[in-house]
Amino acid sequence: MRKSYIAGNWKMHKTVSEACALASELDSAVGQNEHKVMIAPPFTALAAVADTLKESRIIVGAQNMASAEIGAHTGEVSVLMLKDIGVATVILGHSERRHVYGESDGLINKKVRLALSHGIDVILCVGEQIDEREAGNAEFVVEGQMKNGLAEVSKEELDRVTIAYEPVWAIGTGKTATPDDADAMHAFIRKIISSMFSEESAQSMIIQYGGSVKPGNASSLLSMENIDGALVGGASLDSESFVPIVEFDRV
Ligand code: PGA
Repeated sequence: MRKSYIAGNWKMHKTVSEACALASELDSAVGQNEHKVMIAPPFTALAAVADTLKESRIIVGAQNMASAEIGAHTGEVSVLMLKDIGVATVILGHSERRHVYGESDGLINKKVRLALSHGIDVILCVGEQIDEREAGNAEFVVEGQMKNGLAEVSKEELDRVTIAYEPVWAIGTGKTATPDDADAMHAFIRKIISSMFSEESAQSMIIQYGGSVKPGNASSLLSMENIDGALVGGASLDSESFVPIVEFDRV
């Protein structure tokens, strides 16, 4: 039985004090919930939020990290710095990193392997753009992102990877993939994992859906067989919308 995993990606929102206030509000509201819950504040608030949540079961994650460990990399944040402040998880390959900041599959793979080698868990984001879906290439694109993103990852390391399927056209747009379409892509992702690793790995892989997940659509998406969680952007920015998503099975 796969555990549900709900993650909030705060993107470039919130000052340190706003972030800590929301983190403690969420801790009181969902600290007892049995699902796995993660929040990813901006870098400037990570240390303070990690401190706020040090007794909490809510996991603190980063939204990105450098592909190098240390050195002359102006503006980058190292895996060692994340570990130093108690960050356990990192989101890699988010579509905004791929399409706005030009991150390639090769670069993302370097980051994935570096994070895993340092004991940091990874959420690897994959997903097609609207023109790719309309041209019938959605599966082809996702397959390439999966195979390149997970190249040279071992079966043991894969246990610390979560996949987030986020169709780019659904992110921040209010458009969501239908539960059936999302479930079909998640099943396809499981097939790729089975071919790259094993059927057992495919069956145990947590696959989140992301793209305009809201309290009103969370339970219909998350009740699908192959959808094990959600990566939430906009609706993770306040507790009124994030808490009902974490508690999707209580409504
Ligand atoms: P959204 O973002 O929920 O605001 O669509 C999702 C994401 O980018 O992870």
